[in-house]
Amino acid sequence: MQILILGSAQDAGVPQISCDCPNCLCARKDPKFVRLGPSIAFLDKEKQYCYLIDVSPDIKHQIELIKKEIPKVKTQKTIPISGIFLTHAHFGHVSGLWMFGKECIDIQEITVYCSSNMSVFLRNNHPFSHMLQRKNLILSDMKINHKYPIEDFWITSFQVPHRDEYADTVGYVIERNKKLLYLPDLDYWTDDLIKLVENVDIALIDGSFYSKDELPGRDDVPHPPIKETMELLDPTKTEIYFTHFNHTNLVLNEKGKERKEILEKGFKIAVDGLRINI
Ligand SMILES: [Zn+2]
Ligand SMILES: [Zn+2]
Ligand SMILES: [Zn+2]
Repeated sequence: MQILILGSAQDAGVPQISCDCPNCLCARKDPKFVRLGPSIAFLDKEKQYCYLIDVSPDIKHQIELIKKEIPKVKTQKTIPISGIFLTHAHFGHVSGLWMFGKECIDIQEITVYCSSNMSVFLRNNHPFSHMLQRKNLILSDMKINHKYPIEDFWITSFQVPHRDEYADTVGYVIERNKKLLYLPDLDYWTDDLIKLVENVDIALIDGSFYSKDELPGRDDVPHPPIKETMELLDPTKTEIYFTHFNHTNLVLNEKGKERKEILEKGFKIAVDGLRINI
């Protein structure tokens, strides 16, 4: 099975709308530095399936990346997506779902897997409630920490501390020949989460900010900065990729000392289009 990184930016992408910070200017000049909203696909060409974790506002572009890898799935409706797993209700992780509704491709009966809290949110809020009535989407609740067999892989969700204004937040472990963990958003590391990372082969984790100083005048940045995360995790035990980069992140500067430091310590930096076999 192949994991395909569809978007390695924080919810709003890089460049961010109307921002003239050095990273955004750089991405506007050279498309190689563009990073789309946070999402991954996991797919198998021979077995003809492709699942997404989260649907970013950039899904229109991301679907083209998917089609290059897998033009058709066995349960094809309108697009080559077999099902969708959601982490939480923040903008960058769900807003792309709107593209599947009546005003756009009006997809029929695509299964959305999520926590029961998230499912209550989707049932009670437009546009998702409307899309459920029209059967664009079919909900399938997942119990937290329960290992589900799907196709030829296993998937387990786990609870994540992250500001939960609308519903809760989960991360996922996908298991086939190897175990891969996806954790794009969290507020802080707990012992249990650190243990989870240590128990998988590959982890894609929250790299929103390099350091707390990155957003002047804001002490309330709720993400653990990369600088601190590197002190908690061991990249010799697990192959660790940072992802979900905010547009201000110093790591996005290819020549910066921050990027060099991360790589020297043995951590990796996710990039759109990256493929990982598990
Ligand atoms: Zn996010
Ligand atoms: Zn910017
Ligand atoms: Zn979030």
